[in-house]
Amino acid sequence: MERTLIIVKPDGVQRGLIGEILGRFERRGLKLAGLKLMRIPRETAERHYAEHAGKPFYEGLVSFITSGAVAVGVVEGLGAIAMVRAMMGATNPANAVPGTIRGDFAVTVSYNVIHGSDGPDSAQREIALFFTPSEIVEYERATDRWGTE
Ligand code: UDP
Ligand code: MG
Repeated sequence: MERTLIIVKPDGVQRGLIGEILGRFERRGLKLAGLKLMRIPRETAERHYAEHAGKPFYEGLVSFITSGAVAVGVVEGLGAIAMVRAMMGATNPANAVPGTIRGDFAVTVSYNVIHGSDGPDSAQREIALFFTPSEIVEYERATDRWGTE
């Protein structure tokens, strides 16, 4: 089982897409192990996007991600990290295939609706940044057997 961090960014929340986006992960069979609505503090945003510090888009990115409410979730399942990335679509929505979240709901790279961890190390780091261990919920769903091998 893998866990990955997703963020419905401020544009996604403003546009009423939280349910649509979380619903896609649910319908796929992935499990929500953590969920919160929050306004990200600037220090948290800077740590979250530390790999991009110094890049031309960094300041705008941090301002944007802290500009309003976001929905942050931990998504769990077999191969969840790559699966969520595939469901998100390309970073630049111009290259995102229709059927992906960005390919269906976004037009510009600055406002691309969703974040998802890009690998096991970043998933672990990002989950710890947004959730305490007690905020991660372990529970069984009757349907879980259809998502295990
Ligand atoms: N971003 C941007 N301009 C760029 C590249 C990235 O505004 O030229 C933003 C975009 O919102 C992206 C985020 O920075 O989602 C993080 O970039 P990354 O390359 O990690 O893309 P992601 O992992 O979100 O697909
Ligand atoms: Mg990234």
